[in-house]
Amino acid sequence: MKTEILRLLRESEGYVSGQRLCEELGVSRTAVWKVIRQLKEEGYHVEAVQNRGYRIVDIPDVMSEEELKSLIAGKTQWAGQEIHYFSETDSTNIRAKELGEKGAPHGTLAVAGQQSAGRGRRGRGWESPPGCSIYMSILLRPRFFPSKAPMLTLVMAYSVAKALQECTGQEIRIKWPNDIVLNGKKLVGILTEMSSEIDYINHVVIGVGINVNMDSFSEEIAKTATSFRIETGQIMKRSTLIVEIMKHFERNYEAFLRAGDLSGIRTAYNGLLVNCGREVRILGAKEPYQALALGINDSGELLVRKQDGSEEAVYAGEVSVRGIYGYV
Ligand code: ATP
Repeated sequence: MKTEILRLLRESEGYVSGQRLCEELGVSRTAVWKVIRQLKEEGYHVEAVQNRGYRIVDIPDVMSEEELKSLIAGKTQWAGQEIHYFSETDSTNIRAKELGEKGAPHGTLAVAGQQSAGRGRRGRGWESPPGCSIYMSILLRPRFFPSKAPMLTLVMAYSVAKALQECTGQEIRIKWPNDIVLNGKKLVGILTEMSSEIDYINHVVIGVGINVNMDSFSEEIAKTATSFRIETGQIMKRSTLIVEIMKHFERNYEAFLRAGDLSGIRTAYNGLLVNCGREVRILGAKEPYQALALGINDSGELLVRKQDGSEEAVYAGEVSVRGIYGYV
């Protein structure tokens, strides 16, 4: 009922009468009043005027299942239409995988207010303090071969970068393949995991961690990590960002399915790539080496020109890329 009341208040321009809320939801005036009181306690600024009804004046950075559901209703076909919110959990990737094993539909989203065991690639950790950042994982059930799944990381990176750019007006860039940076520091990490047979995907989970309103990091990552708040001094509404990311991801995922690869978003992705045209150091399976980054190919590999003039496609699974003087 809270979700519905929030949705009705959001959608109406002016006041919504208590009578209308009661009629549309088939509940008593007292029940409506109790929900309004809860909303106020959670931080929503709801104005109540006699003979006119209720009106939302301001929605702060509240994260809850009702907030997310009321905001995403009707905005996408499948991405995030089923949402599970955890005020605290170990890792949203673990929750999304669990939901996948229980049969949750394509597009199901697990969101947490805090993670106690946030994860990055190759067993690394993701700092996930409470109440200020986005930790979310989407469950996908693609019908293509498992070999194509790593490309979904780039589809998500592009979607997150575009959505954040539109919402904030900041110069958001992608650091190949799975990081998003602002002013040369890491703002977002993405972790894709898959459960599959040799030729069949059971499900894919893409986890996204976004540093939104946090104001400090551990000493270990303070030089490379940043948040919107640190860069802009502003507090952002996390739920609005989540919905915008879902809208972009759904559109780009469909484009990816139609093309069968990244050709539909390649040019736009390369336009946001911070590494493009820069010297990078490739750290990974082989000896580290330096090369000029040229952009991604249709499969999402990074094309680089080595110092002897030869070109090579670097596969993301094996390596990390660094700028020659620092993180980017
Ligand atoms: P690289 O940055 O070397 O390319 P990666 O892409 O393999 O690393 P991820 O899996 O994206 O790494 O993220 C994990 C790494 O990010 C950690 O090892 C740590 O250095 C850094 N990190 C951890 N928490 C955060 C955070 N909240 N914000 C920014 N960086 C973080």
